[in-house]
Amino acid sequence: MILAILILLGLFRCSAGRMAGRNASYTVKDGVPDFITVDLLTVNPYSRPGTALKSVNGVVIHYTANQGSSAQANRDYFEGLKDSHVTKASAHFVVGLKGEVIQCIPTAEMAYASNSRNSDTVAIECCYRKADGSFESATYASVIKLTAWLCLKYNLSAEDVIRHYDVTGKNCPKYYVEHPDKWKTFRKDVNAMLKKMKKNS
Ligand SMILES: [Zn+2]
Repeated sequence: MILAILILLGLFRCSAGRMAGRNASYTVKDGVPDFITVDLLTVNPYSRPGTALKSVNGVVIHYTANQGSSAQANRDYFEGLKDSHVTKASAHFVVGLKGEVIQCIPTAEMAYASNSRNSDTVAIECCYRKADGSFESATYASVIKLTAWLCLKYNLSAEDVIRHYDVTGKNCPKYYVEHPDKWKTFRKDVNAMLKKMKKNS
């Protein structure tokens, strides 16, 4: 019986390891990993100013504050600001409910997302379905992967990954502000993924 449990545990750990390994792998074409769909905004003063970032010193995590909306809808909202002039807003990436990742702005350029840290960070907006603001598991997995890849690209650590809340005190991303333990786990998961990516690269 004990032997059977040990064998089962071994099998589980092996398959978990393979899954994690597969999750950390990707191919890069034109500087962009294959899990990212590039759908850049038009350069305009309301969402893509075209300003070059001097350096990237951090990654800022946001939530859309628009429950149930898709990554494409959020990207298209940012694009529409060039005509509607409603506000100035954007993000480099939007991660959707099914884990899809849309890039709106090149990481070498500034987005309008993180107030005083717009000038030296990359911003990720996350879609969510639940009222508490927690991310769907597919969304979470993609955000971790994307964030780890950005850390690898810019030689950052999980400590450099911050919430919008850490910049302005805004309740964003809601669930990870209201549950500091989950935010700790988020950073741990980024760190683990970063380690795997470093091993694979
Ligand atoms: Zn935010």
